[in-house]
Amino acid sequence: MTVDPPLLQVQALGKHFPVRGGFFRRITGWLKAVDDVSFEVKRGETFGLVGESGCGKSTLGRAILRLHEPTAGRVILDGTDITALDRSRLTAARRHMQIIFQDPYASLSPRRTVLQTLLEPMEIHRIGTPRSRREKVLELLDIVGMGPQVLHRYPHEFSGGQRQRIGIARALTLDPKFIVADEAVSALDVSVQSQVLNLIGRLQRELGISFLFISHDLAVVQHISHQVGVMYLGRLVEIAPAADLYRDPMHPYTRALLSAIPVPDPKRRRKRILLQGEVPSPLDPPSGCPFRTRCPEAMPICAERRPLLRPIHDGEAPHQVACHLH
Ligand code: SF4
Repeated sequence: MTVDPPLLQVQALGKHFPVRGGFFRRITGWLKAVDDVSFEVKRGETFGLVGESGCGKSTLGRAILRLHEPTAGRVILDGTDITALDRSRLTAARRHMQIIFQDPYASLSPRRTVLQTLLEPMEIHRIGTPRSRREKVLELLDIVGMGPQVLHRYPHEFSGGQRQRIGIARALTLDPKFIVADEAVSALDVSVQSQVLNLIGRLQRELGISFLFISHDLAVVQHISHQVGVMYLGRLVEIAPAADLYRDPMHPYTRALLSAIPVPDPKRRRKRILLQGEVPSPLDPPSGCPFRTRCPEAMPICAERRPLLRPIHDGEAPHQVACHLH
């Protein structure tokens, strides 16, 4: 039996920012926003990436697309090493990987109509004829549930949910294989959130697009994700198939995040785990396990040795955790 290779392979990816100080602005340290992160996304699947704000998940999404230049590691998309491409080949490869932002209002030009916004990527990449581009725009609007009457309207004339649909349509213009959705529903009302989540789920199923779906909210990624990765201080601390992670979270940080999600069934309700203290500064992370200063189950070894991300059991999509308890 042949196994389909993953669409995206992220291998030991790092993004470190220099910290400068003193009169000569010399480098005095490094902020490891993303450190030694590895995971895979299969074709037509969604990888949910969760963690508190500031944990490095947006930086990771941008480093994968090389919107931030990675400091270490490799990103392989459909067999192409994205991290090794020169500028012109990277521009050509960009059509296969797109991003949807949290705030569609900020990412859409206020002076461009919907038609101009959706035509632009095809014009830049010189795809199709004027007629076929316009047909594609109408097709994209139909996919995201909008009609031709919006073509000549400007972003300020739409609601937040409608603007996000336009942002999604723009991400689809070049038929990408992979999309990073960065907090794509966080700014929307709950009812609009579920409509946009349903739309993303439908795109993934019907168009076979793979998503990296980034959110600070574990409840949001639950139903849309095949795999979920939990990030803390720039590193992945747990990766598992979504059903496994929500049924049997292994890392104390994941357990704490999950305990905050309201469960309607009183018999299944989890005891709320309140995390103590603030997230430590990534400029000066704790020794050993980066979560130890907030972990209710910390042991002496946790201050001495950093736990590595290891599979708990074998399988095609193993449950992996970085914790000395396991
Ligand atoms: Fe807690 Fe130790 Fe596990 Fe870190 S390694 S999560 S401190 S028990």
